[in-house]
Formats: sequence, C-alpha cells, structure tokens
Amino acid sequence: MPLDTAIEYLKGVGPQRAETLKKELGIFTFGDLLYHFPFRYIDRTRFHRIRDAQTEGEQVQFRGILRRLETLGEGRARRLTGTLRDETGAIELVWFQGIHWLEKNLQVGKEYIVFGRLSEFNGRVNIAHPEMEEANPENTQKARHFDPVYPSTDKLVQKGLDAKGLRKLTRGLLDSLSPADLPETLPDPLMGSYRLLSRWEALQKIHFPETQTELDAATRRLKFEELFFLQLRLLQIRTRRKDASRGFVFDKIGDFFNRFYQEKLPFELTGAQKRVVREVRADVASGRQMNRLVQGDVGSGKTVVALMSMLMALDNGHQACLMAPTEILAQQHFTNLTELLGDLGVNIGFLTGNVKGKKREAILAQLASGEMHAVVGTHALIEDWVQFQSLGIAVIDEQHRFGVEQRAKLWAKNRGSLPPHVLVMTATPIPRTLAMTLYGDLDVSVIDELPPGRKPIVTTHRTEHHRLRVQGFMKEEIAKGRQVYVVYPMIEETETVDLQNLMSGYEALSRDFPQPEYQISIVHGKMKAADKDFEMQRFLRRETQIMIATTVIEVGVNVPNASVMVIENADRFGLSQLHQLRGRVGRGADQSFCILLTGFKLSADARERLQTMVQTNDGFIIAEADLRLRGPGNIEGTQQSGMLHFRIADLARDGQILTAAREIALKILEKDPSLQLPEHARLKRQLETETKDGRVWSRIS
Ligand code: ADP
Ligand code: MG
Repeated sequence: MPLDTAIEYLKGVGPQRAETLKKELGIFTFGDLLYHFPFRYIDRTRFHRIRDAQTEGEQVQFRGILRRLETLGEGRARRLTGTLRDETGAIELVWFQGIHWLEKNLQVGKEYIVFGRLSEFNGRVNIAHPEMEEANPENTQKARHFDPVYPSTDKLVQKGLDAKGLRKLTRGLLDSLSPADLPETLPDPLMGSYRLLSRWEALQKIHFPETQTELDAATRRLKFEELFFLQLRLLQIRTRRKDASRGFVFDKIGDFFNRFYQEKLPFELTGAQKRVVREVRADVASGRQMNRLVQGDVGSGKTVVALMSMLMALDNGHQACLMAPTEILAQQHFTNLTELLGDLGVNIGFLTGNVKGKKREAILAQLASGEMHAVVGTHALIEDWVQFQSLGIAVIDEQHRFGVEQRAKLWAKNRGSLPPHVLVMTATPIPRTLAMTLYGDLDVSVIDELPPGRKPIVTTHRTEHHRLRVQGFMKEEIAKGRQVYVVYPMIEETETVDLQNLMSGYEALSRDFPQPEYQISIVHGKMKAADKDFEMQRFLRRETQIMIATTVIEVGVNVPNASVMVIENADRFGLSQLHQLRGRVGRGADQSFCILLTGFKLSADARERLQTMVQTNDGFIIAEADLRLRGPGNIEGTQQSGMLHFRIADLARDGQILTAAREIALKILEKDPSLQLPEHARLKRQLETETKDGRVWSRIS
C-alpha cells in the first residue's frame, strides 16, 4: 500500500528531512503525512480592497494593476519596488531578493493577483515579498481557495519544512495518489444517509478546500470517521464482554436488602436513586457481568445506591467491596456504611495499606474464609494479597483516580471463578461526550435528581477588599453553631510556597479567631495520616469550628453541620475542583454558603470559572463549561488517557457528531456483532488495520 511507504521516499523528502519529520511530528509514512491535518487555513477565497488594508500583519489577497516598478538603492540596500492599484486605492510592493528574475517577468500595466502580509514601513503600509500571479479569468477562479497551515516546529523550518514546505509535500503526495490508494472505510448506505463525503474526497478537501462548504464537509466526514471507529471498537468490547463474561446471578432479594430497605434506610429514595437501583438489579440478575458507571452530582446520594447494590451480593452468598481513592474517604465511607447498616448483622471491615499486623491478618483471613461479608478500603484492596472467598461485586467510588488497568485487575479478582460485578461511581459529573469516550465500554446510569429539601448553596465571589466582612460573616455562622471550611490551593509544582501560604493563613486566622472562643483544625497533605485523622475527627465531633485544609478534603468528606466554604485563591482551582469543594457544604438542613476569594487581577478564563460557579449549582452544566474552557485533555483525571487524543475530533464541540456516531455504531453491532455481513466488510477491515497499526489499541488498553 502506498500509504505504508516510508516518508523518505516521497518526492522532496529524502533521508534527512525524513528524520526530522519522524522526530518532530511522528510522521513515518505517506499515510502519516496525509493525516497530518492543517490546524488553520488562510482564507484566499476573496479579494480584499486595497483601501481597507490597514492592519499590520494581516494576510491579504488583492487583484489590481501593476502601475510602477523600479529598482532603488545600491548593494545591500538594493530593492525592487512597485505600486499596485485597484478601484479603491494603491499600495506599495517591495522585494529584496530575486530582483533580477522579477524585473524580467513582471510587467507594468498588467493585472495581477497579489498575496502577502501587510507590514508597515516608514509609516506606510506595504507588502514585502508578495506572491505575484498574472490575473486571467482562469486563475482568478483558482486563486480563490484556502491555504492550509500545518503545525510545524523550529527544526522543521530549518529544514525548509515550514507551513509552505509541508503544503508542497502534501500537495505532491495527493497528486501521486489515486482513489484506489485510499479505499473507502465506511459503508455506502451510511455515507448516503448521513451525507458524508467519500474518504478520498474528504482527504483532498481537508488539505486543499476551495470553499468553506467543502472544508466543512471534509471536516465533518473525518471527525465522524474518527469518532465512529472509536465508538465501534468500544461498543464491540462491551458487546463481547457481555456475551463472553458470564457473571454471578443474584436472583434473590433477601433479608439483608429487604431489612435494610424497610428498617434502616433513614429516608425515602429519590426517583433517580430508585431507577438506578433497578438498573443495577437488572444487570446482576442477567447472568452477565455488570460493568456500570453511575454518574451523579455531588450530594445526589450515590453512597446508598452503592450500599444497596452490595447487599444484593450478600443476599446471594457473595461478598462485596467498596474502594475509595483516599484513606480519609475510605474511612468516611466505612463509618457511613457501618452507621447505615446498624444491627443488620453485616460483618464489614476496613482495609488500607495502613492497616497492619494482627488487624490486617484477621481481616485477610475472614475475607478468604467468607466470614467477612464486605470490606471498605483504598486501592490496597486490589493487591494480590487480598483474597476473597467469593467477591460478588466491587464498587469503585470516585473513579477518575482509578485507571482502566486497575479496573481490569478487579475483573481478575476471582481466579478460576466468575469475575465480580463492577459498579463505578464518578465523583462529579463529566460531560456526556467524555463519558461516552472514557467509559464507552460501560453502561451508564445517571442520578439526575437531588434529595428533596436541599437549599441551593449561595455562592459569592469576593476580593481581598472584603476579607474583614467575610470574617464577620464566618463569626455569625459559627455563633449559630455552624462550622466553616477554609481551603487553600496546593499543587505539586508550587508546593513550598503553597504550604507557606496555608501556614500564614492559619496564623492570621488564629489571631482573628482567638482561643478559647474559637478552635481551629488544620489538615494538609504533608501531615501524617494519623494526625490528619485526629484533626478530622475533632472537626466532625464539633470540637473545632474552623477547618483549614488543602484539597485533601476535596473528595467525599461529609460533615453535615458545616455550612460555609471559604476558598482562598479560588482562581487557581479548576471548575470541577471548585464544584467538588463547594459540595462539602449544603449537606445538612441549613442554608449554606460558598465564598470564592481572589485578588483583584484575574485572567479571562478565571473570571469565567468564577462566574459559572456563582451562577449555577448544577454539576453537569459546570462540567460542560469546564470542558469548553480547558479542553478534554485537561479535565481532571483524564490527563493520562490516550483516548482523548484525536487528530481532528474535538469533544468540546463535536457532541452531535459523537452522539450520531455512537448510535450508528450501536445499531450496526446490534444487527451484526462481529461484523460478518458483507455490507460491513469495510468496517471490519478498517478495525483490523487500526489494530495492526497498534495506534488505537494503545488508546484503549
Ligand atoms: P454523593 O453522591 O456525593 O456521594 P452521598 O451519598 O454522600 O452523596 O449523599 C449525600 C447526603 O445525602 C448524605 O448525607 C446522604 O445521607 C443524604 N441522602 C442520600 N440520599 C438521600 C435521600 N433520598 N433523601 C435524603 N437524603 C439523602
Ligand atoms: Mg460520594
């Protein structure tokens, strides 16, 4: 296949340039170059009017008569200048090189198409080294097009491969190919019904479109193709797993579940919680392994859904585990579940890397014998030394800190027997497009309803200016018996400074909130686990009124009496973090408040983040805004994921195409799960080619 040909054999490349193309852009083959898409285009579809050309640096295309041409200066200052005139005005053109050739070939009085960048010289606008082409009816039409601009690097530019050089290579490559070299990957009926260009046409037009319409059509086709094959692959994994991986059948709803529901559950489930419990129930009774993601906003009540799912396993003679990303959170879950279960007779344990010695041995022995029904812990639970008698279900809370690999480790937990059912819970909502990609192989449930009676948290943005008033407000709330969080940013790169800020904040606060009237807790990442825990417990028991902390309290911590969240340097947090932090309050019956403190100077992005927070409490809306502002690669927890590196698709913008791609892929697989039908031959071949390339696989596994 010509597309597999090594890039050095392309006309105009050779070994040296090939080396640079490989190193700088990862372009090894003809195909790689073909899929190195422009990141923008220079619009040459129209002619500018000379009178309007004022902005230095702007790229313009004129059509006019060359009125004057003369050589000025001597030696190094020698230059050729000319005047171009259209109906609206005149502009100076100037060349410092190639003068001889230009003098011979340009003719005063003729009409030219002139393209270049406006610059300012001696207070006048001119164009240095414009491209000149004689205007005639034919090339006037041809001149109207878009010029592709490719990502390039300094090293490439040194080798003559700037945007123009890459443009020339790509043009040459496309001219050397025929449609047979770029076989279609999509079935004809699909292209017809979804109005997609052919692959051949799309690849021509993505590089060299003549109109905006052509560019849009090519872009749409290529985005669709990229998203479609990823979805097809993810859904195929899901289908195969469903077919292949039989799962434990929990056909009984027994005493644990029923007694919990009737005697222990302290509230009525929301409609959304009931729906998700039903979905889980259907999964675990189906005979296939459940792989389900539960998405729900902070405080939507995921924990109790997790617990009820775990009880289904217990009722059928299996064990359950709940895994959390941090020690504190695991501890909190354990306390929570123990409390909810009361005297139900569930033997539930707690296991993290810090549980050692006899305690650990006892738990391990009970898990292995089946005497212990359930265990809550951190990722220590997936270590090999933890063996279950029969793990029926694994719940992973706050999934985004667990990698796909870790999930896979869980599936292998019951050696020789069936894999456990897996229920993944996200900490915060993630945008739909991201969910479809990152968790495209899972079934998704959404808890889109908050428990009744929640008062929306009132969020305000305050600057340094208001610090005294903010403190006054904190004192009022504390006087009412409430508690307050004060959170400082802490990131690895600026850790030392951040820690200093936190400590000086603590000292300042200790002065303004003096003992014995006020007690202050402090928790940060540099403290020992035991010390952190001690401080957390004091705050929980209301022995302290203020908790100063870094983002260690971000996930999951539940202190219903806390009603004020003050976030210092709020502009330094990402949206999802801010939303998480805010979710720490508003858990009780009281009106809660979130105060975002910043300096005066803010970037446009920071301002938009803060505004979003002030305007809405809806985690799904916030997640969409976060995606828009930061792009998919920067959303928390997704950085490592190769799944989000697209050539052309953009999850922040291409939600519609993605939804369509997924629906179409789903329909195809429902009809033909292993793509055996002749009409799906192209799809099958394309998946196989991608697999062979190894590229797509590295994204998914
Ligand atoms: P998250 O989804 O953020 O993990 P939690 O499970 O921690 O939320 O629940 C938040 C709070 O809401 C807890 O105090 C929990 O007891 C309470 N809660 C959960 N479901 C309901 C409900 N249906 N009605 C009233 N309160 C509920
Ligand atoms: Mg939670």
